[in-house]
Amino acid sequence: MTMRKILIATTNPGKMRELSELLDAKVEWVSLKDFPGLPEVVEDGETFAENAAKKALGYAKATGLWTIADDSGLCIDALGGAPGINSARFCGPKDRAENRHLIDTKNMEKVLQLLKDLPEEKRTARFVCAICLAGPQKILAQTQATWEGVIATAPIGTGGFGYDPIMYIPELENSVGQISAPLKNQLSHRAKAIKLLKPHLSALLKA
Ligand code: IMP
Repeated sequence: MTMRKILIATTNPGKMRELSELLDAKVEWVSLKDFPGLPEVVEDGETFAENAAKKALGYAKATGLWTIADDSGLCIDALGGAPGINSARFCGPKDRAENRHLIDTKNMEKVLQLLKDLPEEKRTARFVCAICLAGPQKILAQTQATWEGVIATAPIGTGGFGYDPIMYIPELENSVGQISAPLKNQLSHRAKAIKLLKPHLSALLKA
């Protein structure tokens, strides 16, 4: 029996490894790196779930493969859920000269400025991750998970990426920027959403 090939819609080797390891299925995993020149799917949905579905369906149609895509971000209660689906570019449109690290720093500065003087009990926030598995014709499974925390008053730690240093997790008594990558990969919104997808994928592979 030939193994099913599944595309993980990312060019990020870290994300590719995390998803394929957590899903632990007998399939041949490929990433967007295996399809150079494929036109990028525009993420113009209004929710994380819509964006994940657009990406999964778009790349599944383009390649003919079952495709897994995710969309994630940070939602802050005091900002009405912002930056939300605009998390990657909260500080403004990307200047070609800017690197990811600089954008992450500016994004965090903007959040800290907006929440300036806000007391701890009003600084609640969550990371959200939506995942979609789609075939070329339709969505096969969708999951979503969150990771609750509190926005710190200044960055703490230097680990991780994005908003990790300002996302404080009370139960861990640490920011996400302070914890190890393996611990983050057990507890994160992404890890939870991937684990929720696993039984769906197993059932679909058996059908
Ligand atoms: P994407 O879904 O991987 O494109 O992530 C969108 C944006 O959300 C990232 O650029 C980060 O700014 C933010 N984000 C998503 N997940 C995390 C996380 O685990 N830690 C910190 N920031 C995150």
